[in-house]
Parts: sequence; structure tokens; C-alpha cells
Amino acid sequence: VKILAIESSCDDTGAAVLVDGKILSNQIANQKVHEEYGGVVPELASRAHQENIVPVVDIALQKAGVKKEELSAIAFTQSPGLIGSLLVGSCFAKSMAMALNIPLIGVHHMQAHVLANFIDDPKPDFPFLCLTVSGGHTQIVLCESPLKMRVIGETLDDAAGEAFDKSAKLLGLPYPGGPLIDKYAKEGDPTRFKFPEPKIPELNFSFSGLKTAILYFLQENQQQDPQFIEKNLADICASIQHRIVSILLNKVVKAAEETGIRDIAIAGGVSANSGLRTALEAYGQKYHWRTFIPKFEYCTDNAGMIAITAYYKYLAGEFAGLDAVPTARAAF
Ligand code: ATP
Ligand code: FE
Repeated sequence: VKILAIESSCDDTGAAVLVDGKILSNQIANQKVHEEYGGVVPELASRAHQENIVPVVDIALQKAGVKKEELSAIAFTQSPGLIGSLLVGSCFAKSMAMALNIPLIGVHHMQAHVLANFIDDPKPDFPFLCLTVSGGHTQIVLCESPLKMRVIGETLDDAAGEAFDKSAKLLGLPYPGGPLIDKYAKEGDPTRFKFPEPKIPELNFSFSGLKTAILYFLQENQQQDPQFIEKNLADICASIQHRIVSILLNKVVKAAEETGIRDIAIAGGVSANSGLRTALEAYGQKYHWRTFIPKFEYCTDNAGMIAITAYYKYLAGEFAGLDAVPTARAAF
């Protein structure tokens, strides 16, 4: 089975080639145009996808040493995401599938984030729990099989990635600030400043209170010393990161207790965070979990995760028609 997968849900154009369950290439073109706007501009994103998609697919095929005539199927991200961005990937995938006369596979982006844990060994056993933390989602997912998963907890407001990015913005850092908080936190003291942990029922999350607490904390301290942020950047970043990570993992502890499941995975862009990666391992030791973290390149948006999901769908005979419509929102 040889699958070409395309990811274009947000601002990165990705293409990957999978052969018999193994990823042979995973190509990504990052869009720089959004930086000066402090966030992703949807119209600019779709235009950049149009420019990037042909070269990115070409390079992915070349690197894998696979000719397009050898492909068994074309996969694309169908939902959720920015509609203009999804349309570019889906139209491209459909045209290519039609020209080559091979099947088309539509993939759910959040299911793909979870299945990034199945690209390399060791893989979790079913059932397992996955904490999916990205720019738009924060979910605890109970996975019964590759294609059978359900959300048992999620954020009521901001996603974990937004909590990182909005905190970074308050600190005057450029977008996306998550990776920068991670970087500065490495030199800081996570116990120096205490931010509140909200009490949210069940397995759900909330990050809007934390954002407000950080805003007031910074305003007060900057009033007393206009150089407060500058002087304490590392400690502030470490303390914010520490709180976001503890909010996330304390809910995973609760989910593991309630379900009795001890195989715990993380996924999504925020699972690239070094504080979360280290803390997951520490919690794992303490609670006797087996923990799984995708390789760095499979955490943030990538087409490799679309390819592995498409592989399971191919084996299950789940194909999409040429009339498949991408949607901005969708449950799995
Ligand atoms: P979704 O998958 O929900 O549609 P998305 O695809 O935009 O959203 P991802 O690409 O999975 O999101 O993740 C991007 C998010 O991950 C951004 O908010 C970014 O700041 C955050 N992020 C990436 N690396 C790190 C890091 N090292 N530390 C903290 N946050 C990070
Ligand atoms: Fe994503």
C-alpha cells in the first residue's frame, strides 16, 4: 500500500508518503506571512497553500522514491480547520485521485493528531487515553481502536496552545509564542510565581481564568517596575508553563483513575513542549503509566499523521467520494 497524504488545515502545507505502514517522507512548508499580524490570516493562508502544494508534494514523492503512478490512494485533511485552507488540499487531492484513477481518503485532523502515536514504536495498546493539546483543541480522548475514539473531556474556552500563545502575547513575545515560552522556561524557576489552577467539573478544562490572572499579575508588577517582565522573563515563563502543564496532567490523572487505563499518550502541537514531555514521564513513574509521546516532527501539524490515519482507513475500506466536502468543524 502506497499512500500520498496532504495536510492543509491551518497555516502549514504538508505532504507525506507512506509505504506499508511506514512513513518514507514527511515534508512541510511553514508560512511566514502571518508573523507580522500576530496570528493566522485565513485568506493569506489559502493563497500560500496554493503556492506551496505542488512543490511540497513533488519533494515528498521524490524523497520517498515513489512515482505518482505507483500510488494506491490519496489522503487529505477533510476537517476541522480553516475552510479556505482545507479547500486547497481537498481540491488538489481530488484532482490527483481522479487523474490517477485511485481512491480518495478523507481524514479527521484531530484523529490524526492522536494516531501520530502509531507512526513509530513503541505504540500504545488499546484502550488507551490520549491528551490532545493543540492550537485549537484540548481533549482527553479514549481510544478503543485506531478508528474508534471518543472525547471524554475538553476545554470549555481556550485551547492549551492558545493559553501559551496568549500568555506569550501578554509578555510581548511574537506569534506563535508557545515555543518561546518553552525556550525561556528552560532557564527559569517554575515555583517562583503562583498562578491559579481552576476548579472545573469532570474531565473538562478552562484556561480563560489563567489568562486573566496573568494579565493582572503583569499589570500590577509592571506598574511598580516597568522592567519587571524583562528582568523576570525566564521565571514568569517557567511558572506559566508549570501551571498549564499541571492543569493538563491533573485531569489526565483523573481520567486514568476513572477509566482504569494506564497507557497514556499525548499529541498535538503543545505535546512538543519540553515541560509537558518531562512532566508526563514523571507522572508516568508516579502513577505507573506507560507513556507515549510522538517524535517532535509529528506533534505539530504534519502530513505524516494524516498518512498513518489514512493507512488504517485504507485497511478498513473507508474511502471518500469525489463529492467529499471539507468542513471547518466536525466531531470524529
Ligand atoms: P488544531 O490541531 O487544534 O486544529 P493547530 O493545528 O493550529 O490546531 P498545532 O499545529 O497542532 O495546532 O499546534 C500549534 C500550537 O502548539 C500553537 O498554539 C503553538 O504555540 C503550540 N506549540 C508548539 N510548540 C510548542 C511548545 N514547544 N511549547 C508550547 N506550545 C507549543
Ligand atoms: Fe493541528
